[in-house]
Amino acid sequence: MRVLIGLASFSLTLTVYGEPASFRAGVARVEITPEGPIWLSGYASRTKPSEGVLHPLYAKALALEDRQGHRLAIVTLDVIGIPRTMSDEIGARVAKQYGLERRALLLNASHTHTGPVIWPNLASMFELPPGEEQKLREYQRRLVESVVELVGKALQSMEAVELSYGEGQVGFAVNRREFTASGVRIGVNPNGPVDHSVPVIAVRAQDGRLVAVVFGYACHNTTLTGEHYEISGDYAGFAQSAIEERFPGATALFLALCGGDQNPHPRGTVELARQHGRALAEEVARVLQSNLRPLKPPLLAAYQVTELELAPYKREQFEAELQHKSAAYRNRARLMLQLLDQRRPIHRVAYPVQAFRWDRSLTLVALGGEVVVDYALRLKREYVGEPLIVVGYSNDVMGYIPSERVLREGGYEADQSMVYYGLPAPFTARVEEQVFEAIRRVMMRVGRPLAHGRAQRVW
Ligand SMILES: [Zn+2]
Repeated sequence: MRVLIGLASFSLTLTVYGEPASFRAGVARVEITPEGPIWLSGYASRTKPSEGVLHPLYAKALALEDRQGHRLAIVTLDVIGIPRTMSDEIGARVAKQYGLERRALLLNASHTHTGPVIWPNLASMFELPPGEEQKLREYQRRLVESVVELVGKALQSMEAVELSYGEGQVGFAVNRREFTASGVRIGVNPNGPVDHSVPVIAVRAQDGRLVAVVFGYACHNTTLTGEHYEISGDYAGFAQSAIEERFPGATALFLALCGGDQNPHPRGTVELARQHGRALAEEVARVLQSNLRPLKPPLLAAYQVTELELAPYKREQFEAELQHKSAAYRNRARLMLQLLDQRRPIHRVAYPVQAFRWDRSLTLVALGGEVVVDYALRLKREYVGEPLIVVGYSNDVMGYIPSERVLREGGYEADQSMVYYGLPAPFTARVEEQVFEAIRRVMMRVGRPLAHGRAQRVW
């Protein structure tokens, strides 16, 4: 309890007994491993459903509340990505059932490539055998139910906590845009931009017990390649379980950051996935034992759905692509021709941008899609002076989000990936500015204008 004693020209705050906690937090988890074999996502080369489980998949929720009753929830999912329909449905039901506004709910996918297809995310990528689509739709349905219930559980199990923040570094992410004589291909580019930072939010009960830890990394969750058919959370799954083993009773939540053009290196075996997971977990443990900075109330949240323009295209392209040797091109062509026939062609993509802020102690920006690392690096350059976590794969994974540079250079993240996401054309050169306009608006709403009044990019 605090007592304010007013004197002539100043006031003094005295703690009479037991400082009240700054926050309350609730944590919940649910296992979301599919029962039995199911089509795995991530690689177009898949030829059969999953075979067994290497590592269970989880959905986890951390709900936070400040002393004024402002609440927010962070939900992390060991899945490839969530489509907008799913995100909208979860958001609407969470708002209706628990009164938590859409802007205060963050849904992040770890982007594991050894988890089920989340229908209809990346639906053009696969040629599914009969009955498989129905199985995927049922899994998606159950997942929505589980996540809504999960958020309720977290909101209903609040206890007094203190929050703190620190940052580490781990080096296994490498820029994967390799420049070759025939263009940019997915490989290893040791000179390309990376963001090796490991943000860590610690949630501790008043007795010092670690209740939860939120951590993240900007790297594709793809240590395991297309010939791996066992279900797992890849390095992020191994990292979460290693942290939970090290801190019994704590829940570890992994956020996928802006790793759209980053791959683990080296990759290709279960042992490497375990090794990268362990490296990340060890760094999180080291940060937890270092001097963390306390996070301050109030909690602020802002959310906006903007629109990103696509480049122009012609019907003839898809008529020709009906004969393409790749099933993904044929699938996309059929979908695009259907939309053109129905006079509903796609020219824009809805794009969610979110910001959470802990007063002046930390800002978290959550972007939709597979965001390339340039966005995180530019944001950190433009918004200086307060720690910043830039999260990707949030609230909707509708495609890759290339920067102006990546779009100009071309390659998978700029162009070819649009086929798998069922989109007709690349984004326009304005994509980066369109995303940044939306970022500036949500940042203003959480009270964080550009430093020094700069309105233009700083590099
Ligand atoms: Zn990806």
